Amino acid sequence: MRNIYDYTLDELAREFAPSYRAKQIYGWLYHRYIDDFDAMSNVSKELRAALKETFTTQCVKILKVEHSVDGSKKYLFGTQDGHSYEAVLLQMREEQSGEGGEKQSEARYTICLSSQIGCRVGCAFCCTGKGGFVRNLSAGEIVAQVVHIKRDNGFAPQKGLNIVFMGMGEPLDNFDNVVRAIGILASKDGLSIAPRRQTISTSGIAPRIEQLGRLNLGVQLALSLHAVNDALRSRLVPMNRSYNIREVLDVLRRFPIDSRKRLLFEYIMIKDVNDDLQSAKELLRLLNGFKAKVNLILFNPHEGSGFARPSAESVRKFQEFLLSRGLLCTLRKSLGLDISAACGQLREKNV
Ligand code: SAH
Ligand code: SF4
Repeated sequence: MRNIYDYTLDELAREFAPSYRAKQIYGWLYHRYIDDFDAMSNVSKELRAALKETFTTQCVKILKVEHSVDGSKKYLFGTQDGHSYEAVLLQMREEQSGEGGEKQSEARYTICLSSQIGCRVGCAFCCTGKGGFVRNLSAGEIVAQVVHIKRDNGFAPQKGLNIVFMGMGEPLDNFDNVVRAIGILASKDGLSIAPRRQTISTSGIAPRIEQLGRLNLGVQLALSLHAVNDALRSRLVPMNRSYNIREVLDVLRRFPIDSRKRLLFEYIMIKDVNDDLQSAKELLRLLNGFKAKVNLILFNPHEGSGFARPSAESVRKFQEFLLSRGLLCTLRKSLGLDISAACGQLREKNV
């Protein structure tokens, strides 16, 4: 059976002309989260029968949901071939002033998606990498994460959401399926999540970054930099042995970004490894000329990693130095730590 979430609107329209039929199907799948073809009441009986013959909506199932005290939720999904992968719904509270000046807090949501089961890159600090690589997710298995999470939370179809490809896997190592998923997620007749609301995070596969740039999709890009010299980066992020810092930064200079946005550089701070002021100075020098934002992430510990979290003092000094030199630099709040849903803590579960 074919997974219906693998297909673009145009592909369904070609299969089921005239094209309004594909729009109806998309409406049921992505606006009403209906996964039973028989419940698609404005679709003709013949078409429903044809759909049921070759397509399924059931390739991915929610196996488990864990709730964090900070409002985030971790979802464990099961595939038809008996594997599992995770996605996280991150809830951020934003303070806003109401009409009468009173403070209101509004929840904003980001969904952190997986692109692979496991990961081939094997970064030294990452739990996903430690588990090895199982297989790529199909576009439909990627998209289904969003559909399930929207349905489970009763989100209205038009609810604004951000997507980050920061769950399990290296998205650019599953290039075609990730690009296809970005398009399906962005479809105006479907989930309507504009590419500028989608961020691809990569360990730095230079030729794939180049290829993504040429497609000019309008997606945001984040580079997991984590180190300012090749010796250390090769140790932390083995991808650096294939494409070193200079090569990756060179292709990033040509990457098309929305004029309102910045390139994101992620930097995991690890105690006594890369959290010193000298590294901050070198980082500033490396990013000179980029319209950049640095996102500092505190290393999230897991068993057997051999690394530790940096002190609050060294993080403060690092961040203050960059800010004082005019480089935008934020500290990522680790959400979902209590349910092992934070960065680098996702891995395939035996269920
Ligand atoms: N493979 C891609 C995207 C998934 S990882 C990448 O590496 O960019 C998403 C982010 O989580 C990356 O920036 C990654 O470096 C970070 N991460 C991995 N393990 C971590 C850990 N133990 N603590 C904090 N961040 C971690
Ligand atoms: Fe893979 Fe990213 Fe983890 Fe590195 S940090 S092992 S690239 S998922």
